[in-house]
Parts: sequence; structure tokens; C-alpha cells
Amino acid sequence: MTLTCYRCGRTANEGARCDCGGPLWLDVDATDFSWPDGAPGPTTGVRRYADLLPVEPLPGVAAAAGGTPLVRVPRLDEFAGCRCWLKDESENPTGSFKDRGSAVGVAAAVRAGDDWVGTVSHGNMATSVAAHAAGTDADCLVLVPDDIPPERLGYVAQYDPEIVRVAGDYGRLYYDSLDLPGVRFLNSDTPHRVAGQKTTALEICEAFARDLSGEDEAPDAVVLPVSSGGHASAAWKGLRELRAAGLLDELPRLYLVQAAACDPIAAAYRVGDDEVETTTAKETVAYSIANPDPPSGTRALAAARATGGAVVSVSDDEILAAKRALARRAGFCVEPASATTLAGVRQLSAAGELAADDAVVAVATGTGFRESPTATARPETVELADLDGHVRSLVDG
Ligand SMILES: [Zn+2]
Repeated sequence: MTLTCYRCGRTANEGARCDCGGPLWLDVDATDFSWPDGAPGPTTGVRRYADLLPVEPLPGVAAAAGGTPLVRVPRLDEFAGCRCWLKDESENPTGSFKDRGSAVGVAAAVRAGDDWVGTVSHGNMATSVAAHAAGTDADCLVLVPDDIPPERLGYVAQYDPEIVRVAGDYGRLYYDSLDLPGVRFLNSDTPHRVAGQKTTALEICEAFARDLSGEDEAPDAVVLPVSSGGHASAAWKGLRELRAAGLLDELPRLYLVQAAACDPIAAAYRVGDDEVETTTAKETVAYSIANPDPPSGTRALAAARATGGAVVSVSDDEILAAKRALARRAGFCVEPASATTLAGVRQLSAAGELAADDAVVAVATGTGFRESPTATARPETVELADLDGHVRSLVDG
């Protein structure tokens, strides 16, 4: 595997950034790749695509990463405005797609003999890296912003990593952490993390190719929330490898969705820029994707353009409406950041960008069960003796 700059094509021996400033990814010759034998699923997970990975994930919790369900959800078609599938990433061990990158990144560190892994995060990625490190002999360092309320760290702390609050520019910490001594940092767009996260796209395409999803040979579009741009870049990488292997004739369009309160990538797309500029973040319900300075933003923008997709942003009201639709119409509980995908699909359909018969996969990147519930219930109390009559009146309408 070779570290290659997606933008200028230069190669490097180490690091996460090219001399030109572009993020590096791990290139593999995928020409001879074919779908592995046997059915995909939770018993194989990310390891199923070991031929396209820089390192094989370790046994234990990493074996539970990936292999998530791809579910056709006709009950969401009307809301979505197209034929809707959900890729349910909440089935990962820590409830988000981050486990795919952690499985590969922690394996790379451990197999190289590193004693420490680390990350800069106070959300899904911190939880994921801490969990995957806990499944090995590696120690784990999690760097969080100084102003974080300690109660926000409960999910991370249960895996017992070393947590350090850092005062200063949190955006800059992302890059500075990569030069810290003795710790291999697995940040959101580092090459091994991106290599693991490309398996989302591989699984989606394999499910379609094997007719697990009906008559469609490939989805017309894949829709992802976008924050750092790491997952979107990874999806693009995976799709390109499948095309190189002859397993995809045409790449599905990649549509990326941001919260309007913090949408630097969508802003660059709207005005036709090739470079994503830093913005300021405002409050949004989709706080876990509110990234004002996305390290792989420009690469994600290129992914959307190269595949014929787009980058859009959605309001908090649209996000919450999509979250309710996922729960009430389909039975899925996702975090608001993941509901952006369905909100984006609805907007793209209304704009004519997606057609009613398009096969569209919305990637639900993380569980909503870590959130405080947004719905409340104050059910009335009925005496047991009156219950029969009460239920009769309910079911008779
Ligand atoms: Zn470069």
C-alpha cells in the first residue's frame, strides 16, 4: 500500500498530509479484487475486505466492526421522494461508523508495536478509539477541548482511556496532535482510519451486486452526513477501487449533507469553489458534524463533484423532521447528525436532483440512543378495572 495524495498524486512514506497540503490516503491495486466467497454479514465485518485493507483487524471487538445491515425501507419513500435504503451504522460496537476506522487504525498501531493510540474528539470517535484500544494491549490518549462539560465524557470514560483537556485552538490541535511523541493518533481523516471507513461503501455495493437489495445492480446515489470529510473521502476511495476491479461500471453519485448552521463544504459547493474555507460554527442539533474547519473538506467536495453528486445543507427543523420520520414511519432511532441524510434526500428530491425511481442509500452513521430523547410522553392513568373498556374504545377508534 502506498500513501498517495488524492490531489497531486505525489506519494509519501509516512504522515497524513502531502507537501501540497492535501490529505494522503492509502492506495491499493484493486485490479484483481473480487467479492469474497460466502455471504457478507456481521460475522465477517470489516475483515471481509482484508484484500483492500492495509492491515487485518485484530480479533475481539474489531471483529464486530462493520457488517452492518443495509435495509430497504419502503415506508420512507414518500418522505424521501425516491426509493430509500438505510445503511444502519448504529449496529457497530460503539454505535457509529467510526468503529470501521478504529478497527483498522488500532490494528495498524498494535501490529507496528506502538504502545499508545490517541485521538482528538469528545464524541463518537473518542468513544470508538477508546473501545478498540481497550480490546488490545495498547493504551489510549483522548484529547478534548478544555471547556467540555465532564458529564459529556461518560461514554468515553467507561473504556478507561487517559483523557486530557487541552486549552487552546481545538482546530489546530487536530494537526498538532499528529506530531506528538509516542502516540499514534487516529484522527478523523488519517490514512488508516479512511482505509477502514471505505468499507461502508464496499458493503453497500456488495449488497446490491449480490441482489440482496432486489433488482438494482448498484445504488444510483449514496448520501452521507459530512463533517471532517473523512468518511465521504473514504466512500469515494472505496467506489474508485470497485471501479478499478471492474465491479462497478459507473460510480453512484455521492451526496453530502451538512447542518446549515455550520456548512463550509456546502458553502464552497454553492459558489463553485474548489477549496473549502474555514467558517464559524453556530449551535445546531447536529452538533457532532458541526466542523468549521474540516481537514478533508476539499477532498470531500471533490468526491461529490467527481461522482456527479452535490453538497447541500439542511436546517435544524428539517433535521428534526427527518429524525421523527425515521422513528415514527420506520422504527429507526438515529442521532440528529445522521438524520441530516434523510433531510438532504428529501431536499434533493424536491429540487429534482433525485428521481422518484432512483435507488438511494442514506447512511445513518450513528445511533440516537446516546441522545436525550426529543419526544416526551405523559400517558393517562387508567384503573385496571376500567382497562378493558378503555382499550376497546382505543382499538375501535
Ligand atoms: Zn499533494
